[in-house]
Amino acid sequence: MTSNILAVLGRLRHFWIEGVAGVALTLSVVSAASASLPPPTRPLVKPALAPVAAVDAPAPPPVFACSDPVPGYEVDSPYGLRRLPWERQGRLHEGVDIAAPTGAPVLAAADGVVVRKGDSSTYGRFVEIRHGEAGLTTFYAHLGRIERTAQVGAYLGQGTILGRIGLSGTSTGPHLHFEIRQAGKALNPQAFLDRKFETPADLPIKAASFVSPHVRVAEVSFIPEAKRALMAEAAPSRGRHGRRVRQTLQLAQADTAD
Ligand SMILES: [Zn+2]
Repeated sequence: MTSNILAVLGRLRHFWIEGVAGVALTLSVVSAASASLPPPTRPLVKPALAPVAAVDAPAPPPVFACSDPVPGYEVDSPYGLRRLPWERQGRLHEGVDIAAPTGAPVLAAADGVVVRKGDSSTYGRFVEIRHGEAGLTTFYAHLGRIERTAQVGAYLGQGTILGRIGLSGTSTGPHLHFEIRQAGKALNPQAFLDRKFETPADLPIKAASFVSPHVRVAEVSFIPEAKRALMAEAAPSRGRHGRRVRQTLQLAQADTAD
């Protein structure tokens, strides 16, 4: 009996020693951990509000952000001097042509206000949008249909459908003729497409004004009826096309009303 009691006491003592050792170990780990932390400090200065407000403020919108007017379709006839098969010489193609199926949506390339729409014998059904801050206009021609939203005076956000692809006016097939102008001067739209410009100084006006002296002979899939008689008269010109075209171009531009 006594030996049993002694045995129990012995085990209890053993547990007690282990318990004390465990507590001691825990305390030493905690104190080691707190020793590695920096001493608690109290902020001396309240955080300033100004930098937080600056981060939250929205960035000013770019002066001109230009997206594809017919997404998914490439430019297949660029800006530049071009001779069509029924022309004896050539003239400046004042925009780009984007061929797409009839009825495909034509979108506003940038935010702006419709300043003109109409129907001309050459451009067919067209819409013109002014992009105020940038001093630029975009022009969409040969439309099959103009949407009701594209009324003169209406504000159209970038990407708004303004019309549908067609072949109204003098057109060799369903396509969009797309121009960008500043103060009436036609610029190369490919200097702007898929790009954003933060300030007016960032606009690539100089690069977009460059016209190569090379005259490209356009290949067309369709000859408009009105142009067929001219085909017999037109012969490929020789020599320094660029110079001659530039001279005739100035005369032609003086006559161009639209
Ligand atoms: Zn064109």
